[in-house]
Amino acid sequence: MPRYTSYPTAPHFTADIGADQHGKWLERLPKAATLSLYLHVPFCSSLCFYCGCTTKATRRHGPVSAYVVRLEREIDLLAERAGGRTVTHIAWGGGTPSLIGPDALKRLYARIAEKFDLEQLSEHAIELDPRETSTELADALAAIGVDRTSLGVQDFSAHVQTAIGRVQPFGTVERAVNLLREAGISAINLDLMYGLPHQTERDVRRTAHLASLLTPDRLALFGYAHVPWVRPNQRLIDQTALPGAAERLEQAEAARTTLMELGYAPIGLDHFARPNDPMAIAAANGRLRRNFQGYTVDQADALIGLGASAISRFPQGFTQNAPDSASYQRAIETGTFATVRGVAFTRDDIKRGALIERLMCDLEVDLDDEVLQDASPRLASLAADGLIRIDGHHIAMTSAGRHFVRLAAAALDARLQAGNARHSAAV
Ligand code: SF4
Repeated sequence: MPRYTSYPTAPHFTADIGADQHGKWLERLPKAATLSLYLHVPFCSSLCFYCGCTTKATRRHGPVSAYVVRLEREIDLLAERAGGRTVTHIAWGGGTPSLIGPDALKRLYARIAEKFDLEQLSEHAIELDPRETSTELADALAAIGVDRTSLGVQDFSAHVQTAIGRVQPFGTVERAVNLLREAGISAINLDLMYGLPHQTERDVRRTAHLASLLTPDRLALFGYAHVPWVRPNQRLIDQTALPGAAERLEQAEAARTTLMELGYAPIGLDHFARPNDPMAIAAANGRLRRNFQGYTVDQADALIGLGASAISRFPQGFTQNAPDSASYQRAIETGTFATVRGVAFTRDDIKRGALIERLMCDLEVDLDDEVLQDASPRLASLAADGLIRIDGHHIAMTSAGRHFVRLAAAALDARLQAGNARHSAAV
C-alpha cells in the first residue's frame, strides 16, 4: 500500500523521463519560483536491521568524500539552470547525512549559499543519528544555520533495540538532544516506530512517555514494514517475533492516545506536534503539505532532490536520480544530471494528486463529480466498514478509520491496479 507521499506514486515513474527533461523543467521554473532543496547521503556507519532507506554501511572515508565531490558538482549543474532563485527550505536526509562530517556540511552549504538566494530560508533541517551526534557536529550544524533536527529513536526498550540492531539507551538520545540545544538548535523532532519485533503495546506507551521527557516539538510515528525481499538487511529480523495486524493497530492507537494525553496534536496519519508548532498551525489552517519526507510546512514551488535516489517535484512532473550511488556518481562526473526515471503529470494526475494530498493531510476532502463517481464502489466499501463517512461530495475519515487513510487515498488513485489489499496492510 503506497504511503502517498506523491501522486502518481513512485512505481509509476518510467525511464521516459531522463536527464534532458529534468534540465528542461529546471530551466522552465520562473525566476520568482521558490525552491526547496533535499540532499541525500546514502551512507551509515552500520545498517540497522529494520532499515528501509536507500543507504549502505561504510566505515571508510574515501567513498564518502568522493560522493561529497559529486554532490558539489550537482549543485553547480543545478545552478547552471536555476541558479539565483530563492531557496526557502533545505533538508538533509539519508542514510546518516552527518557522516560526511562537519567540514563537508559547511562546504556544501557554502556552495548552495554562493549559487542561490537564501535570504528567505525558513527551515534548514537534518536527520541525525543520536549515537553519532557530537559537540563538534552540533556546533557545525548551528554554524550553517540548521534550525531543526530529526533524531531516530524507534523504541527505548532494550529488548526491542537488540532485536532491531540499534542499541541506543535513553541517555544517548538525551545527550544528543542536550548537545543540539546547547548549540542553539531548539527545534527537535523524534521518530518513533511500532510493529517492531518483540515490541508490545506497553513498550510503545513507555517510549512515548520517555520521548516526551525530551520535550520534542514534533514526533513522527511510523509502522515497520517488513519487506526482506526488497531490503535484505531485514532478514536479520526474527519474523516470528513481529506483532500481527491487530497488535499493530493497537500499538498505533496506543501511541496516538498517549501522545495526545501528553499534549501533542495529532497531524495527518502519523505526525504529532505541540499545538504552537508551525506544523500544528499549518494543519489547523489547512496548509499542511505532503512530500517525499512525509508531512511538511514547505510551500516551495519546486522540490529539487540532490544525490543518489533523490526525487524532484516540478510543476510538470517528478524526476528521480539513479538509486545506486555508483551510477549516480558516474552520471554527475560526466557533467549530466543523474535522472533515470520520472513521470509527467496529466491533468487527471494534477487533480487527483491535489485531492489525495488534502485527504492525507486533512483526513477529509471534497471530491468532484468525476472522481466521486469513479471511486464510489471502493469508498462505499470503506464506509460500510465504518472507516469513512460520505456526505455528498465530502468524504472524511472516522476516528476509527484515521489509521486507514491510505486505503481511502488508494480509492482515489486511478493508477493503482485493482488489488486485493487487505485493511491490515494499510496500518
Ligand atoms: S535506520 Fe537510519 S541509521 Fe539505521 S541504517 Fe537506516 S538510515 Fe542508517
